[in-house]
Amino acid sequence: MTSSSDNRLGELLYKYDVFAPRYTSYPTVPAWTGEVSSQDYREALLKCSSQDPFSLYFHLPFCENLCHFCGCTQVITKDHERSKSYTEVLKAELKKVRSLLPKKLGSVTQIHFGGGTPNFFHPMEISTLLQLVRNLFDVESDAELAIEIHPKTSLTSFNQMLASQGFNRISLGIQDLDPKVQSLINRNQNFEITKLCMDELRSNGLSHFNLDLVYGLPGQNEQGWEKTLAQVLQLSPNRLAVYSYAHVPWVRPVQRKFLDSDLPSPQLKVHFFEMAYKTFLDAGFSLIGMDHFARGDDELTLALKTEGIHRNFMGYSTRSDAHQIGFGMSAISYVNGGYFQNQKELKKYTEMINRDELATFRGHILKNDDFLRKDVITHMMCQGSINYDAFNEKWGKHFHDVFPEAISQLNSFEKDGLVSIDNHGFRVVGEGFLFLRNIATLFDAYLENIRKGATNPTFSRTI
Ligand code: SF4
Repeated sequence: MTSSSDNRLGELLYKYDVFAPRYTSYPTVPAWTGEVSSQDYREALLKCSSQDPFSLYFHLPFCENLCHFCGCTQVITKDHERSKSYTEVLKAELKKVRSLLPKKLGSVTQIHFGGGTPNFFHPMEISTLLQLVRNLFDVESDAELAIEIHPKTSLTSFNQMLASQGFNRISLGIQDLDPKVQSLINRNQNFEITKLCMDELRSNGLSHFNLDLVYGLPGQNEQGWEKTLAQVLQLSPNRLAVYSYAHVPWVRPVQRKFLDSDLPSPQLKVHFFEMAYKTFLDAGFSLIGMDHFARGDDELTLALKTEGIHRNFMGYSTRSDAHQIGFGMSAISYVNGGYFQNQKELKKYTEMINRDELATFRGHILKNDDFLRKDVITHMMCQGSINYDAFNEKWGKHFHDVFPEAISQLNSFEKDGLVSIDNHGFRVVGEGFLFLRNIATLFDAYLENIRKGATNPTFSRTI
């Protein structure tokens, strides 16, 4: 193994491996409060105009088995009747939200089903839910229709439904294909099972695949990870995400199912990311930002050249800004300058929707300073650059007056060759795109207080 400190990239990865948000929202979730209620969400929905586009997210929480590394909001059960009643609650929430929006409405550009394990649901439940969406909203004919599935448990009937309903983005959880790692994380899904599932989806006409990997898992070693990376490329994905495993057993007690000594050292973890980065770039993928890669012919790669990349709770996308409405337990919405999160417990969420209420339990209403910083962080995470003149004109303030400390801190990123600064602004360059989270923290007004107030780390590590 090449030690991470033997080369420049390894040293940078090690240096910038700190706890930092992923910035799918700004302010980030730990800054939100319970003062934001269903009434605030209701008012935000009522303010939507007849032209506004929408992006919809459905959280489908059920899983048959608990993966020991899991950090998602899920409900473990083998009782498939539960998805039936949950689908009815989602439909009620959908109708409730729609009733608060103007009669004439802009179109839906993106629909995403996440989990949990969406393929836990019966194909009919997904298709009737989609039918209701199409009845209530104007879904664009080329809308992005995405779903996360578990290759081991996705049945033929479900895979066929995905094709017949027009799904055009399939995300498959891979994590690591090494049997030793799979056994430690309680997720036995080998290469053959994954390939069989993808072959079947392809034979049904589905052609766009996003594969998710996780590095830093228990039992991972260099040889096994190298094999996983090679096998993943054999599966010919369009996009790849390589997430850092967040070990937070005080929040996720299931992560105590393996020993801390099963985890790779921080140096080895950094090395695993470096291996993935080099392997995917050598295979012709482009780095979109942080830990996301896309093939040369993917629309995300093409959008890199035209500043056409956007970011929301679902990650990077080419779809422009829209109101984001989340349905289901724990789902998050961003509407008219406010974040609203649904109850995280299934029982409470269900009770509130069944009482014909919205189910918000916390959120954040953005103030002027929040909008300005959100704009800078989002632009930086998507386009990797800030133009001072454009900022001054848009916000009527001078960038240097608003962010004096950030400007001086940017110098250290420049010294490391990660950003280039001139009189007109700054630009993330080369490997700097791996450290977007670190650079974004310079513009976060809440982070210091969040870090001070936390007894345990609140965010995952950047690497
Ligand atoms: S399938 Fe996904 S959501 Fe379900 S337990 Fe495993 S990691 Fe968590």
